[in-house]
Amino acid sequence: MIDTSFIEKKPNKEPISIWRDCLKTIKENVTLMTYNTWFIPIKPLELENFTLRVQLPSQFFWEWIDEHYNTLINKTIHEVLGPEAKLAYVISEEPEKEDSQNETVAKKQEESGEPVKPKQEFESFLNPRYTFDNFIKGEGNQLARAAAGAISDNPGGTSFNPLFVYGGVGLGKTHLIQAIGNKILQNLPDKKVIYLSADIFTVEFVEAIQSNTLNEFSNFYRKMDVLIIDDIQFLIGKEKTQDLFFQIFNTLHQSRKQIILSSDKPPKDLKGLDDRLISRFQWGLTADIQPPDLETRIAILKRKSEDYGMMISTEILEYIANNITSNIRELEGCLIKLLANASLSSKEINLELAKKTVKEIATDRKININIESITKVVCDYFKIDENKIRDKTRKKEVVMARQIAMYLSKELTKSSLKTIGLHFGGRDHSTVIHACTAIEEEKNTDAHLKDILSTLRTNIEINCS
Ligand code: ADP
Ligand code: MG
Repeated sequence: MIDTSFIEKKPNKEPISIWRDCLKTIKENVTLMTYNTWFIPIKPLELENFTLRVQLPSQFFWEWIDEHYNTLINKTIHEVLGPEAKLAYVISEEPEKEDSQNETVAKKQEESGEPVKPKQEFESFLNPRYTFDNFIKGEGNQLARAAAGAISDNPGGTSFNPLFVYGGVGLGKTHLIQAIGNKILQNLPDKKVIYLSADIFTVEFVEAIQSNTLNEFSNFYRKMDVLIIDDIQFLIGKEKTQDLFFQIFNTLHQSRKQIILSSDKPPKDLKGLDDRLISRFQWGLTADIQPPDLETRIAILKRKSEDYGMMISTEILEYIANNITSNIRELEGCLIKLLANASLSSKEINLELAKKTVKEIATDRKININIESITKVVCDYFKIDENKIRDKTRKKEVVMARQIAMYLSKELTKSSLKTIGLHFGGRDHSTVIHACTAIEEEKNTDAHLKDILSTLRTNIEINCS
């Protein structure tokens, strides 16, 4: 037999695609800021045996990378190209004056007839799947959709700054605010647009403190043209992060940069958020997204089923739309599941199969949510140590949180009373019944408790989706 191992050892991939694979791993191991600042500007040049040659913009850049990210880079390149692989650096000789440099490059390319590539030195973290084109309009999202459209045409130039979009889970907030970013980049590719959720912002903030790079962190966000932050309610209770976000907000707003935020509730209900922020959030436009009405639900199902290439009768679409009412993500999930069920059983999509699928969706909803995640969300909300809720403490606030967690576990999971009791420090099933009735009764007379329960349900859904 001919030994071909020496041939296979040679990687036959393009430098660009190798580097792209490396970036995937790197992205998972560093913060957004680090990724954008230090890794996006690296340009893959060529591959010689197992050495990938890349270009860095300056000597300083090289020193910084070498000092801070050497281990990560080695690990990554080994993962992608094997144990013999390494990275070799070339420092760009061209001066760093961006614009004139790009012009000459563009000119040269024009002369030589090569296409002029748009420069992309910045990762926005937008999902290209979210566009205006596939966002179905309906009464529930009319205002938010219209404002989003206006902003895309004129970021920072409308009175909708910030745009604050709020609404329940799975109603299209993330889709809509990302559609704005995608549209802006399509029209104005040079704009610095960044999308991230507030919990990632918080994690990065903490990392910046630990690594002593707070200034860099803050400057990075202050340089954006469009800052899109999803689920801003995650800043609740994080005072230090709020302080810094406040400063970034002010800098951007003063220089007429566009800020876009989403939340599960309106600004005034964001208890635990600094009043200064709440008032700023109301400077621009606050627009809610309401659950879609029947007509919109049918329109969404129709459009999505066409996108998936499914042939579904109006009767079935109406059945689904009548039975899944409060969450667009679930409408989508139902179609996908229906498609899977039909192909698995090689049956055609009929009403009977649709009924079965809708039932499964309702069950999935319960399976996804578990007692652990409920406990975590409840403890986060009341700022209680999770162990306290399981031990014998009879302190009033702990008892209250424990009862609420038991109540929600009964309501949102399929667990038996016995199982629920076991999760809360091995308590008897009768204790669980007592907790459930106590909360049920209290809820009917105490509007505040009712609000708390509804907030907790939303947080649990976000946590488990
Ligand atoms: P939220 O951020 O409010 O929880 P998402 O934006 O993640 O909700 O939306 C959930 C799913 O539903 C996504 O796949 C999204 O594309 C889809 N979706 C939401 N609203 C619409 C709409 N109006 N038209 C089409 N698809 C939508
Ligand atoms: Mg979202």
